[in-house]
Amino acid sequence: AKAAGGQLVEYTPELDERAEAAERLGADLRHSLDDGDFQVHYQPIVDLRDGRTVAVEALVRWTHPVRGPVSPAAFIPIAEDNGLICELGEWIMRTSCRQLATWRETTGDRAPRYISVNVSPRQLSEPGFPDVVMSILAETGISPSDLLIEVTETAIFGGGTATEAVETLHRSGIRIALDDFGTGHSSLGLLRTVPVDVIKVDKSFVDEITEPGRRAVIVDALIHVCRGLDLRAVAEGVETAEQADYLRDLGYQYAQGYHFGRPAPDPITAEVARASAA
Ligand code: C2E
Ligand code: MG
Ligand code: MG
Ligand code: MG
Repeated sequence: AKAAGGQLVEYTPELDERAEAAERLGADLRHSLDDGDFQVHYQPIVDLRDGRTVAVEALVRWTHPVRGPVSPAAFIPIAEDNGLICELGEWIMRTSCRQLATWRETTGDRAPRYISVNVSPRQLSEPGFPDVVMSILAETGISPSDLLIEVTETAIFGGGTATEAVETLHRSGIRIALDDFGTGHSSLGLLRTVPVDVIKVDKSFVDEITEPGRRAVIVDALIHVCRGLDLRAVAEGVETAEQADYLRDLGYQYAQGYHFGRPAPDPITAEVARASAA
C-alpha cells in the first residue's frame, strides 16, 4: 500500500476505522430495533396565513443504549447500507399512521389533516413496498390521501423500481412530496416525469432570504413553478419570523421549521392543551 504513496496511504486507517464504526453502529441498530430504542417525533407543518398546524412530518429518533441520541443523518445511511431501513421504515410508517389515528380519536378536528413520512431509496426499491404501505393504511384506518410520502430526487432519479413504486403509490391515492427540493441533480426535469404533488423547498434556499447580499430569487421562482404545475410548496427550515413573513408575501402557504415548532413526541396534544388552557 505504501507504493501507492501520498494521501491515500494516510487515509486508509481512518477509512477502516470509519467502516468499523459504521458496522458496529449497524449491529447496534439491529439490537435497538428489537429492544424498542426508536421513537418517532413529529414536526408541525403550518399554514402561513393563520399559523395553524395542517400536518406533521414524522422524524425518527434513536436513543443508543450507550451513546444516547444519535442523529438520523448519522444512522439512516447505515441502515440503508445494511438493509435494516426496510424494517425500521415499516415500523416508522406504522407508528406514524397509528399516531394520526390516535390524534383523530383524542383531538377530533384539531388532528393534523395528513402525515408526512420520509421514505428512503432502498425502501422504495424493495419489491412489495407499496403493498406494505397499503396494508398499514388498512390496519390503522388511515386513508391513502391522508398520507404524504417524502422522497428525494436522488431516490427516483433515473427511473427503475423506485420510480415505479412512486407511480404505484400515487395511483393508490397516496400523495408524493419531493424532499430537499433543488439540491439534487434533476429537480425540474423530475417534475415532468414523476407524479409529484408537493415540493419541499430546501432549507438552503429559505436561508438565503435573510442572508446579507443574497436575494429570494430561487424561492420566488419556485413558487411560480408550483403554481404553474398545480403543486403545493412547503418551505423547510424556517427559523425566523422575518423568513415566515417574506415567504407569505411571496405567496407561500405552507412552511415548517424551528420558528413554528421543533420535532417533538406529541406537539398536537400539547397544542390542544395550550389552547384549552388559554
Ligand atoms: P428531512 O426529511 O429534510 O427533515 C428535515 C430535517 O430538518 C429534520 O432533521 C428536522 O429536525 C430539521 N429541521 C426542521 N426545521 C428546522 C429548522 O428550522 N432549522 C434546522 N436547522 N433544522 C430543521 P432530522 O430529524 O435530524 O432528520 C434529518 C434527515 O434524516 C431528514 O431530513 C431525513 O432525510 C432523514 N430522516 C429523518 N427521519 C427519517 C425517517 O423516519 N425515515 C427516513 N428514511 N429518513 C429520515
Ligand atoms: Mg423530509
Ligand atoms: Mg426535507
Ligand atoms: Mg432536509
